[in-house]
Amino acid sequence: MPATKVVVNVPGEDAYDVRIGAGILDSLGAHLRRVPALERTERALVVTDANVAPLYRDAAKASLAEGGFRASDVVVCAGEDAKSVAVAAEIWDAMAQLSLGRDCVVVALGGGVVGDLAGFVASAYMRGVPVVQVPTTLLSMVDSSVGGKTGVNLEAGKNLVGAFKQPAYVCADTATLATLDEREWACGCAEIAKASVIDSDEFFFWLVDAADALAARDEAVVSEAIARSVVFKADVVAADKTESKGVRECLNYGHTLGHAVEALAGYGTFSHGAAVAEGMRFAARLGAALVDTPLDLVEAQDALLDALGLPALSWSAEPEAMLAAMKRDKKARRGQVRFVLPRDVGDWQLVDVDDDTLLSHVDAWAR
Ligand code: NAD
Ligand code: MG
Repeated sequence: MPATKVVVNVPGEDAYDVRIGAGILDSLGAHLRRVPALERTERALVVTDANVAPLYRDAAKASLAEGGFRASDVVVCAGEDAKSVAVAAEIWDAMAQLSLGRDCVVVALGGGVVGDLAGFVASAYMRGVPVVQVPTTLLSMVDSSVGGKTGVNLEAGKNLVGAFKQPAYVCADTATLATLDEREWACGCAEIAKASVIDSDEFFFWLVDAADALAARDEAVVSEAIARSVVFKADVVAADKTESKGVRECLNYGHTLGHAVEALAGYGTFSHGAAVAEGMRFAARLGAALVDTPLDLVEAQDALLDALGLPALSWSAEPEAMLAAMKRDKKARRGQVRFVLPRDVGDWQLVDVDDDTLLSHVDAWAR
């Protein structure tokens, strides 16, 4: 199975390759050597977490060595807690201890947590050194490793400190997904489904046909789903690099209600993917009421999410509490909750929904 390459071209930034394929971690070092920004780079710092380190760190470091990089590593705790200013500072200290200069490269080996953390670390160390993303979760391959958003969390909220930092290269080795559990797998599937609804008929109906094979982790289908999602995300990011034009907000489809579900159920009760899938089901129904979303879409999306292992949740909260949680989300505007609604597959609209309308729909959802 040959590797696929997607080129990401963000205006004002160096173009970068996203390579997707099984076993390509072995050629990471050789490929990095050919990235113009890394031609003379001698040292690499692999940032990874405690789950991923025993699985893939040695392979990554061996491959970097073959490319002529002297590689060190830092292992952080697994999970969202690693996305903190304190952990970022520990990595900066480790880099200084290792005497890493501006001519080093940071290699983020792990899921979105490691990618966001290491990308942020790279964005600020010595005013910026290159970062390479080596995503090892389906979610990070299809979503977080591309687009350049990096950052850490504060007590006050998620991702409150960060930087836009495009990677120099992305290596998505689908063989690393073999060790990913079902819950994390489904998280990636939810973001793929989200991308397909927002993107086009072509992507959506391909995914509808491919859903069973994707759920069964068929290698060719997995790679194609990742490639299609990366192309979609790259196009959105190219159109709205710093999330200032309203285009990038489409990536929030399903996340408005989804974030409220995650928060009110208690973080970790439902996976991010399960919550986003629920949010997509809700947003499509809200769309049917507000922007004439066809019922065919609502039903086809339900079936797609079912097939991907993302069933409707048998959980609900008080509608008033849901409304309050959605208003606390940073995407609320002028007191109204803003939704990405699909007018049709490949055609979306931002809609500020007033409290009474939203309450009546959340009430129907909660029954
Ligand atoms: P994660 O990084 O926490 O990984 C999930 C779990 O899987 C962790 O326990 C991790 O150790 C483990 N893991 C990783 N790779 C594995 C493998 N190959 N085999 C076995 N276990 C493995 O979570 P995630 O879902 O990848 O990413 C979530 C993070 O991404 C959140 O912090 C979110 O804010 C961020 N995010 C960022 C963007 C962006 O644009 N920057 C977009 C979406 C999400
Ligand atoms: Mg998400």
